[in-house]
Amino acid sequence: MEILHVSAECYPVAKAGGLADVVGSLPKYQQELGHIAKVVMPMHRMSFLYKNEWEVVHKGWFRMGESSFDFTIIKEKQNKLGFDLYCVDIHGLLDREKIYGYDDDTERFLAFQVSVLEWLSKWNHQPDVVHVHDHHTALIPFMMKHCFAYRHLSQIPTILTIHNAQYQGWMGWDKATYLPAWDTWKWGLLEWDHTVNSLACGIKCADKVNTVSPGYMAELMQSANGLEHLISHESSKCSGILNGIDYSVWNPETDTYILDNYSVEDADSGKKLNKKKLCDDLQFDINLPLFVFIGRLVHEKAADLLPAVISSAFARFGPVFNFVVLGNGMKQVEEALDYLRNHWFDYYHSQIEYNEKFSHQLYAGADFLLMPSRVEPCGLNQMYSMRYGTVPMVRRTGGLNDTVIDFGEKEGYGICFNHASIDDVLHAMERALGLYRDKDQFFQIRERMMRINNSWENSASSYIALYQSIQK
Ligand code: ADP
Repeated sequence: MEILHVSAECYPVAKAGGLADVVGSLPKYQQELGHIAKVVMPMHRMSFLYKNEWEVVHKGWFRMGESSFDFTIIKEKQNKLGFDLYCVDIHGLLDREKIYGYDDDTERFLAFQVSVLEWLSKWNHQPDVVHVHDHHTALIPFMMKHCFAYRHLSQIPTILTIHNAQYQGWMGWDKATYLPAWDTWKWGLLEWDHTVNSLACGIKCADKVNTVSPGYMAELMQSANGLEHLISHESSKCSGILNGIDYSVWNPETDTYILDNYSVEDADSGKKLNKKKLCDDLQFDINLPLFVFIGRLVHEKAADLLPAVISSAFARFGPVFNFVVLGNGMKQVEEALDYLRNHWFDYYHSQIEYNEKFSHQLYAGADFLLMPSRVEPCGLNQMYSMRYGTVPMVRRTGGLNDTVIDFGEKEGYGICFNHASIDDVLHAMERALGLYRDKDQFFQIRERMMRINNSWENSASSYIALYQSIQK
């Protein structure tokens, strides 16, 4: 099969979160299964762009409202990612340093989607499936069916993967004029709750819709930031497929970001060396358990709880552990986390930034990884931490619930709790401190989780089965 993935992010080209990891790895595994997978994304101004060679494969133009735009499709020449990677360049609109966060994001991602369809219209053949990811690309199934210029693409099956239903790509009706001429009888497909809602439109128009874990799909039927009734109504075409992780990138045996490579056989000494490097750099006592949080400092991740959790934990348990936070997001949380350094500088470190290399070093050197998320569509961090022998401490929600078994249960290896509350996290930390003291059990759990296979192998085939089910 030939699959065209359309996404705003793709690791290692441009990453803001898990979407990039998925789009950078799933196509590689699909290729390995004997299929042709291609990715097209906006040409953000990222270092990957300058470090690699590109060729122009298409040039075109389109109208958006009163304006017209030229666009260029470039292709990475050496197949560095293991699949064909295409970027859309629209001068002044897409060639920016950040992926998101501009006032004209609506126009930017509309222009991106239109360019992809303009390009696809000129292919000499058609792909077997167009796979769109999240709201930035979710208008494509509608445009393929109801924009007059693209109706010849309407036979191509489409699938929408929801990586995060919190963000839906809302826009006022005035922006609907930016879409290429469309059948206005179909306005109801664009609409949800009196506004144009890109994600809702994708859910209505795509042939299949999936989320990145079965648990998250079940949750969305109950609560989906206003889309729960729509998702329940469309449930016959909805499913959940658990994300995998890219074993060629996330492998403690070969990871070039970490100080000492290790496998499950020598995890004890390997993790100790990585922990020592971290503790030396941060002037921490290596004998104390090291807790880490890695992620966006946003409400969904319950990052707002962290300052109170960390100070209460020091108050309740004393200085018997170290804690490192890596992340950025809400300003008040960033400031509160930085402020804590004044009090606990021998035991606590906050690094307010996005830092891929440091994240790998933390997965390798830490003992426990905390994820108190309020919402977690799949969560990749817990799977990375398991692969690196770091015990995940997770709230029972979405994909966390699907991937982590509490160590109190049969064959368990993680620490699970029910509520995104300070009390629940403190209780989980207390259990972690106890576990850390019981070295036999701690090592047994580490070995158990490192042997779990969370790679894409299974899920990549589930996607292929889904594509096959909608061939027309
Ligand atoms: P989400 O996509 O909701 O942010 P996921 O768990 O699916 O959450 O994926 C998060 C990804 O982003 C992981 O690869 C994680 O290591 C990475 N990440 C998040 N914040 C940072 C950061 N500050 N520095 C480095 N990597 C980060």
